[in-house]
Amino acid sequence: MASADGSDAVLRAVSGVDGSAAGEADAAATAAWDREHVWHPYASVPPSVPVHVVRRARGVRITLADGRELIDGMSSWWAAIHGYGHPRLDAAVTAQLGDMAHVMFGGLTHAPAVRLARTLAELTGLPKVFFADSGSVAVEVAIKMALQYGAPRGRTRLMTVRGGYHGDTFGAMAVCDPVNGMHHLFSGVLPAHVFASEPPREPSEEYRRELERTVARHAHELAAIIVEPIVQGAGGMRFYHPDHLRTLRKLADEYGILLIADEIATGFGRTGEMFGCDHAGVRPDIMCVGKALTGGYLTMAATLCTEEVARGVGVLMHGPTFMANPLAAAVAQASLDLLAERPWREEVRRIEQGLAEGLTPARRLPGVRDVRVFGAIGVIETEEPVDVARVQEVVMARGVWLRPFNRLIYTMPPYPIGEDDLAAVTSAMVAAAREL
Ligand SMILES: *Cc1c(COP(=O)(O)O)cnc(C)c1O
Repeated sequence: MASADGSDAVLRAVSGVDGSAAGEADAAATAAWDREHVWHPYASVPPSVPVHVVRRARGVRITLADGRELIDGMSSWWAAIHGYGHPRLDAAVTAQLGDMAHVMFGGLTHAPAVRLARTLAELTGLPKVFFADSGSVAVEVAIKMALQYGAPRGRTRLMTVRGGYHGDTFGAMAVCDPVNGMHHLFSGVLPAHVFASEPPREPSEEYRRELERTVARHAHELAAIIVEPIVQGAGGMRFYHPDHLRTLRKLADEYGILLIADEIATGFGRTGEMFGCDHAGVRPDIMCVGKALTGGYLTMAATLCTEEVARGVGVLMHGPTFMANPLAAAVAQASLDLLAERPWREEVRRIEQGLAEGLTPARRLPGVRDVRVFGAIGVIETEEPVDVARVQEVVMARGVWLRPFNRLIYTMPPYPIGEDDLAAVTSAMVAAAREL
């Protein structure tokens, strides 16, 4: 560590390097330092899979420092639904900067936050809004709400289904899938919640009875049921039938348990409806949104709830430093305005068709277990875990950016992606699957 005197000199030296014209030519140095010192998601330092330096991102294109242009098949993990560098979103950030980048939310408020809260309340039908700084934190807050609400009646556990993903913080991890999640690394630290099996794709009497049995057995201790509505994202990219969500809503009502919908991945049109819950006509008691909330610009999420939950909770014991950040709130509002204007239902339907057609050839390939498409989400599930570096080599050679994991080669492209670009994404996925 630099001494107190030394740290000013360090800062000057570092900014000298970065501010100089060397910047671009130094992509190799950036990559090298990154490799030795900087953690990437779910990776070691240095990482086992190559990391690429990005120079710029515009529309549905990511440009690497070496000049390669890649069609974005990931929307930066569900977030960049309008593509990158949208003039309206850029302008919202710039305009907000003229007023303030941030002020604390304890004892102060501002128009960007209140306007966004009103928009979200109207959109979800849930009138009480808590702004969090990431999806995982929004889930923590939802869990806190449920536990504060349930505590007076001795309700201290949660129920969920297998195959889920709700984030990487401890409360959220505890409701992720116990097998493919991270439970094995932290067993003994994570609270033990109640798990039903994975909700199936089709309607199922048998599954309904399983849910009924599980809820009945644990109702006395359950504060809430938490699920991703209709689409299970990072837990396995699985889609399930809306019946199962309706069953959970009905059981929650019968036994006085709260229903938490984690819409962080599914929210804002990705599945063909505004929210995953809309496929089932279900309104949750608590909802988490994040990811696409700011159009992929800044980190912000929100937890919304009913009047009744808010009354039961009283003082909610949470308050992030960067709560309701004005820049994030302003760009989120601009992103929602933009969504209201764009024909997103048509765009998602068109992407759904393009994915279904483009991925069909993968069905016949050896090593492919399943090909599935729902809304603007396309998945090739393989029999064995894929070699991530190899898949990326194949798709990048075809000018496409994807980030497979485990047995999943998947895409959720930005809504404005064109027909040809989408065809390039699906044919790159098929090419990668051919190499299995
Ligand atoms: C990504 C995700 C989270 C966590 O959000 P972060 O912003 O990464 O903390 C939680 N729930 C779901 C369903 C997600 O897809």
